Amino acid sequence: MSTDILKDIQKELPKVIVSANFEGANIVLYTDDIDFFRDNEGKIKELVNKYKKRIELRADSKLLKSQEETEQIIKGEIPEDAKLTEILFDPQRSIVVIESKRPGSVIGKSGLILKKIREKSLWVPQVQRSPAIKSKITESIRAVLYANNNARKKFLNSVGKKIYKEWNPEKIEGWIRISFLGGGRQVGRSCILLQTPQTKILLDCGINVAGRGKEKFPYLDVSEFKINELDAIILSHAHLDHSGLIPYLFKMGYRGPVYMTAPTRDIAALLALDFIGVAYKQASAPLFSSVDVKEMVKHTICLNFNEVTDIAQDVRITLYNSGHALGSSMTHFNIGNGAHNLLYTGDMKFQRTKLLDRAISNFPRLETAIIESTYGSRRDVLPPRKESEEELIKAIKETIEKGGKILVPELGLGRAQETMLVLEEAMKQNKLPKIPIYIDGMIWDINGIHTAYPDFLNSNVRNEIFQDNNPFVSDIFQRVGSPAERKKVIEGGPCVVLATSGMLVGGASVEYFRHFASNPNNRICFVCYQGIGSLGRQVQEGVKNVQMNVDGKEEMIEVNFDTTTITGLTAHAGRNELLEFANRSQPRPNRIIINHGEQGKCLDLASSIYKLHHIETNVPRNLETIRLR
Ligand SMILES: [Zn+2]
Ligand SMILES: [Zn+2]
Repeated sequence: MSTDILKDIQKELPKVIVSANFEGANIVLYTDDIDFFRDNEGKIKELVNKYKKRIELRADSKLLKSQEETEQIIKGEIPEDAKLTEILFDPQRSIVVIESKRPGSVIGKSGLILKKIREKSLWVPQVQRSPAIKSKITESIRAVLYANNNARKKFLNSVGKKIYKEWNPEKIEGWIRISFLGGGRQVGRSCILLQTPQTKILLDCGINVAGRGKEKFPYLDVSEFKINELDAIILSHAHLDHSGLIPYLFKMGYRGPVYMTAPTRDIAALLALDFIGVAYKQASAPLFSSVDVKEMVKHTICLNFNEVTDIAQDVRITLYNSGHALGSSMTHFNIGNGAHNLLYTGDMKFQRTKLLDRAISNFPRLETAIIESTYGSRRDVLPPRKESEEELIKAIKETIEKGGKILVPELGLGRAQETMLVLEEAMKQNKLPKIPIYIDGMIWDINGIHTAYPDFLNSNVRNEIFQDNNPFVSDIFQRVGSPAERKKVIEGGPCVVLATSGMLVGGASVEYFRHFASNPNNRICFVCYQGIGSLGRQVQEGVKNVQMNVDGKEEMIEVNFDTTTITGLTAHAGRNELLEFANRSQPRPNRIIINHGEQGKCLDLASSIYKLHHIETNVPRNLETIRLR
């Protein structure tokens, strides 16, 4: 069956629609009839219910009030306390974006103020929160998207055309296969190809930063993977082991959509740009350029949690909170109109943290789940969080008393912010002396993105931000912004340094390591996973001497400082959380496929899930394909 959904819909309406097009899976109708735009007597709502698609009505550009008039209307309607910061127009789509410090005041009770703005100006108003810390990357991403308004409109329309090309609301009973191109029995380079007879989708495409040579990258040279046949890419979250190679796919010519949450888009772009910079510093040729990162941004379609969207003729997805990092998501796939339901957890945390709510475990339907297993083995039962927080504070106190410095290598996204919240609280409660806490590397920019998207944080942090108590701008944290400032910290007195990268693979943390390591009064605290082969892993395992290349010269570093590993602050689910997730998922899946863990951990978790919960498990190797039906 093949129909034209745009024509079908227009047939059901009076002759007031001048054009209709897609914005991804959404359908947008433009009318030149003012009365119909202001009041269509529920006709659009009826269509939404009938077709189960998002359908939006906008005014044709001929009807729109001028931008000056509209600004006056908006300023007249919204109250003073809304703290308006900017008004942006998207004339191609008849949309006006209102940016304010208090979006609730712009929206008004039951959306009354927005309704008035819409009726008077005929533009469709959208409200955005202005971030508490200015985020350069978020601003430039918005600028890239606005500068390419027309191209963006065309792109979204072409995505919709493809999704609805052979629009078929019936059940589709074809085969479904998933192939592991990376992340099978390992952490790093996560990449899964999902295929049906109609559709090919890539889930994540990461880089193993601790890997060597070709082992850094997923197996993209297999015959099954053809970049020009790819319908969509889904990115679970911004960490490089999931996002790192996506700009490269654009370099290789991919021009289809990439689905993710808005914070993931901003952070992924930032980390990709940083990755280029790191490559230059290491004097190696970067894999891609900023042009490719821009293409990625232009082709990103942002989804909110719990929003159901068609992404192919036989695949519908919903992103859910995975509790791992800002904007991190699990993807639920409804394949073939309910024929099979698949969950890909990406990285997850099944426990509330200082920053985020725990992962969702209720789904409309579920037959197969692909879950991570970073901390999957019997030995990976995590200590209680409170205990780990206290352990970190104790380690810091002891070192400060000896007159030493503490280095905490951090992932810019997630762990750093979690550590900041732990330290901020400890200092407020006088559990820590008033010592300087320095923040170096990507962390500061990513803090800015956190405050731009408070809706993705848990209610505690969100409320603090709303009440102008933003913990990320607390004056206990000092930013290290230049090599001169870094030198001062290195030569100065006792302090705590949070610096990227998390595994001591490039970045500011390596610089501090080089200067701190030989002094036995200093200390390094590992709070995140250390990949096999990384310098962090070697130090964690007790290496005594490290050969380093500094400005082209070989240098031998003695490792004399204390090494502390605090596993309980990880952003990943521990062994017990993974078992609990497997057991408590509603509905319970028939099969669990385990990836994103070292081989022994994957196998251990698989046999435990099978023994304890009687669920069939698989532990695929890279290049292995599993048929789901
Ligand atoms: Zn991650
Ligand atoms: Zn990961």
